[in-house]
Amino acid sequence: MRVLKFGGTSVGSVQNMNNVKSIINDGDKKIVVLSAMSGTTNALVNIASKISEGNKNEASTEINNLYNKYVDVVNELIIDNSLKEVVSEYVSERFEFLNECVEKSFSQVVENEILAQGELLSTFMFNKFLQQQGVNSQLLPALDFMRINEVKEPDSEAIKSLLDNVLTFTPEADIYITQGFICLDSNGDVSNLQRGGSDYTATIVGAAINAEEVQIWTDIDGMHNNDPRFVEGTKPISDLSFDEAAELAYFGAKILHPQTVLPVRKDGIPVRLKNTMNPPAHGTLISKNHVESGIKAIAAKDGITAIKIKSGRMLQAYGFLRKVFEIFEANKTSIDMITTSEVAVSLTIDDDSNLGAIIEELETFSTIEVDRNQSIVCLVGHSIVDHKNTFKLFQILKDVNIRMISYGGSRNNISLLIDTEKKVDTLQKLNEYLFELVAI
Ligand code: ADP
Ligand code: ASP
Ligand code: MG
Repeated sequence: MRVLKFGGTSVGSVQNMNNVKSIINDGDKKIVVLSAMSGTTNALVNIASKISEGNKNEASTEINNLYNKYVDVVNELIIDNSLKEVVSEYVSERFEFLNECVEKSFSQVVENEILAQGELLSTFMFNKFLQQQGVNSQLLPALDFMRINEVKEPDSEAIKSLLDNVLTFTPEADIYITQGFICLDSNGDVSNLQRGGSDYTATIVGAAINAEEVQIWTDIDGMHNNDPRFVEGTKPISDLSFDEAAELAYFGAKILHPQTVLPVRKDGIPVRLKNTMNPPAHGTLISKNHVESGIKAIAAKDGITAIKIKSGRMLQAYGFLRKVFEIFEANKTSIDMITTSEVAVSLTIDDDSNLGAIIEELETFSTIEVDRNQSIVCLVGHSIVDHKNTFKLFQILKDVNIRMISYGGSRNNISLLIDTEKKVDTLQKLNEYLFELVAI
């Protein structure tokens, strides 16, 4: 069986839901994972933040605005009168729930319950729409099988056995529809896989059923060689290895949630990235094969903090790095990049929630400098460190100030740390040097 995931834009209008129907209705049994309609999760985040600030009136107004959009969608999507009644009632219930949240005392659980409404709405509506069109579809409620553990990682064993059970007890169907993004945590509370998490749901489900393939359908024809939001003339990459795709996703290629590749890499389940608006386009196939070497793609990750730790006696004093790493470990903070010299070590983190405590401990034996608003620009490809064209990237040194370079840590990744305000310029210039100019 295949798992097909459709993102926010793919279910963001009645026209696009019709496209999705034509893509999935090919007689093959499959599991379809859906995101919330585009804009909905952002609206729900906004509503939750208004409630947390105590702005009840503004929260209610936004809930009402969102409700009106859904009323319009239901009217356009569902023509059958009795089905329209069922769907309208469900939508009203979800919005009643949101209105009740305005009066609750705010907590993380309330916020997560608010955020879950987008996927609950899209899947219910789409399932009824398919049934109206004569498609044999059934809902698989994600909250009945998607589980994360104490450290917020998917509990793959529980997911596998719960999903087997849910599939056994759900009436036979051609198309099973489930919610991306949402899950229950180890306390049994509603939680989620972080923003963009429906991609992750798809590969988690794919691994749980040992799918023949996972397809991620979005609004672009696959992984491009640079970020199309900032660079013109980017091109789709036809093949990526799991390692290459994992690096690009982790280092900011928004088309994939950072963890998407992990659940399927071990079993070699291929992941295909496809465009709902242009189904014949090849897209990108992510598999265990390495096709070509050299720099294939560039991505950037924002929100990075750089920490320089200086000590007069760093190299003489063995155990120095161990001491540093232990402090990060004790504060549950992972390190992305690291460079060292005789007197200092610089490293980066993307989660600065424990930075205060980390600095306090580091300052007992060293001098600390912290730079915020940094970005990691990551160049990815098989064996790029050995490739004859890789030298071209160093032309970037004449355009921007590079704060750190990580070269050789892996043969497939070179990372540069820059000021975030130089990110767009850096991505554009690298595109020119690496993918446009043939020779220098
Ligand atoms: P969905 O809602 O379907 O999950 P996303 O918005 O999360 O879609 O991801 C698709 C978007 O990712 C594209 O529209 C594009 O703007 C952005 N993107 C960023 N980097 C890349 C890249 N390297 N290749 C393709 N798309 C990218
Ligand atoms: N709806 C969620 C979000 O917007 C999950 C997803 O779209 O993948 O982040
Ligand atoms: Mg996404």
